[in-house]
Amino acid sequence: MVITVAKRDYYEVLGVQKGASDAEIKKAYRKLAKQYHPDTNEGDKEAEAKFKEASEAYEILSDQEKRSAYDRFGHSAFEQGGAGGAGGFGGGFDFDMDDIFGSVFGDMFGGGGRRRPRGPRPGNDIKQTIQVDFAEAAFGVEKEIKIQTSETCETCHGTKAKPGTSATTCTKCNGTGQVRVTQRTILGAMQSVQTCDACHGEGKVVSDPCPNCHGQGKVRVSKNITVSIPAGIDHGQTLRIQGKGEAGDVGAPNGDLLLTVYIKSHELFERRGMDVYMRMPISFAQAALGAELSIPTLDGNVKFNISEGTQTGTTFRLQGKGIPSLRNKKQRGDQYVEVYVEVPKNLTTKQKELLKEFADGTVDHQPEQMNFKKKLEKFFGKN
Ligand SMILES: [Zn+2]
Ligand SMILES: [Zn+2]
Repeated sequence: MVITVAKRDYYEVLGVQKGASDAEIKKAYRKLAKQYHPDTNEGDKEAEAKFKEASEAYEILSDQEKRSAYDRFGHSAFEQGGAGGAGGFGGGFDFDMDDIFGSVFGDMFGGGGRRRPRGPRPGNDIKQTIQVDFAEAAFGVEKEIKIQTSETCETCHGTKAKPGTSATTCTKCNGTGQVRVTQRTILGAMQSVQTCDACHGEGKVVSDPCPNCHGQGKVRVSKNITVSIPAGIDHGQTLRIQGKGEAGDVGAPNGDLLLTVYIKSHELFERRGMDVYMRMPISFAQAALGAELSIPTLDGNVKFNISEGTQTGTTFRLQGKGIPSLRNKKQRGDQYVEVYVEVPKNLTTKQKELLKEFADGTVDHQPEQMNFKKKLEKFFGKN
């Protein structure tokens, strides 16, 4: 084996201490791998080298046996015939970048990790937003929306080949879409699995492309679709509408439509979860005498009696007049109505006179003012 580059210490590569725990090593590798991953650094040779270096270091340090061999013999533990002590490691081992990456990042990218599944690929998801009215969100609505998407080409039915011709199996990868690349490195022969560059991982090569889609198998379209917004949806929630995304490859499912719902604000109502809040002005006379109020709700006006002497800030609850639950349509929130007394303005002379007359006789009927006066007297001493 020819050593071309002086190798850095594996602990140094990952930026951890020699006695680092497995968790620390994993964490350090995740950080580096994320930073230098080829997917995010396309064409950047330095990043690629750093990614490989970090992956190699992780491969050794995450394995109990290999790590202890490395700790004792350093890099020579893995050189052919080097140091002797480590024995079995010298001969070159299979090193599948995707496997390591998948095992570390699987949980981060959800489900299948970073490994690109072989075979036809599902379509991309589409992300879109939609605005609905307050009541539409409460009770649900069907809406027609315009989406930009891709559909399977009708001319070639997604085969990408000109009608009458067909794709042939890629000779470079024998139709698997992947090739194993062997590199001679300090670790011995390392094999990594790469996407076949002849067929771009599809396993098939089209020599006579479909003229309609230019060999893409799909065409971009703009179209209207009807979506059903469920009752009880809240502002900012995202609906996943299955299969309404971009077309997948032949034999693979479509992507989904991810529709984020925004609710327009309402002039009267304010929503908090499943409950509806409203402030309502009442007149001084209504507050003093009591009254039957007509209160607007999502279900129309309802009658509600307020009693004599209702104060500003009093809040009533109208049970079951709120928003239906998204999960259980039979369940509904409540509506809260806060009343406040509107002090009259621009009174006529006559009205003012009446009010003065009225005011002279009301002191005894305003316990809070009496109370306040008593407190004042206590504080300042009676004059
Ligand atoms: Zn086509
Ligand atoms: Zn191929």
